Amino acid sequence: MIEMIAAKPQYTGRCMLCKEVISKAQMTRHLKKCVEMSTQDAGQVMKLFHLVIEDRYLPMYWLHIEIPGAMTLRHLDSFLREIWLECCGHLSCFTIDGERYAVSPDDDPWSGLREKSMQPKIYSVLAPGTKFDHEYDYGSTTDLKLRVAGVRECAVKKSEIKLLARNEPPIWKCSECGKPATWTKAFGWGDEGTYCDDCAEDEDEECLLPVVNSPRMGVCGYVG
Ligand SMILES: [Zn+2]
Ligand SMILES: [Zn+2]
Ligand SMILES: [Zn+2]
Repeated sequence: MIEMIAAKPQYTGRCMLCKEVISKAQMTRHLKKCVEMSTQDAGQVMKLFHLVIEDRYLPMYWLHIEIPGAMTLRHLDSFLREIWLECCGHLSCFTIDGERYAVSPDDDPWSGLREKSMQPKIYSVLAPGTKFDHEYDYGSTTDLKLRVAGVRECAVKKSEIKLLARNEPPIWKCSECGKPATWTKAFGWGDEGTYCDDCAEDEDEECLLPVVNSPRMGVCGYVG
């Protein structure tokens, strides 16, 4: 059992535009205003998709991003790997409206899977309100839920994925003494646990991974 210190259910996060810390529930509304205010109309007009992303089982990990509609699912997959997921190049896929879009598509008629590639552009597969899923690593899977919170048209200087907001790092409790933890036992090595620097000294070093701000903390060899 691993436990958060001050386990407030608000799961606060920071708006990257104005740096304010607010609750998870209020962030979508906050961003609608904050995004408009921070927009400087210059450059090329494009469609921007506002996505809300969270871990399916660990709701304290969440992100808001804006991605140009002309980018592909592969761009989104790379972004998720970069910020939260990549440990050793596992397979990954999105599931949108029952279709699987995989990084390495399996289209073998014998397996029964008819996967597509991640080449489709965001605007061709997503619309306002679309809910979809992402899986990274089919063994020790990290499962993400994604949702299109809105689409806007706006002039921007650069076509890029922009991080709008991110959860504040959860503070985990040392399973031994209750102080803030800096290490976690890699899942799959028996008992789950989180440890402060002092208590970590009594644990087998090979089973410990750093506490990081990602839903993949403690999984496989993830070190952030
Ligand atoms: Zn803001
Ligand atoms: Zn791995
Ligand atoms: Zn401790």
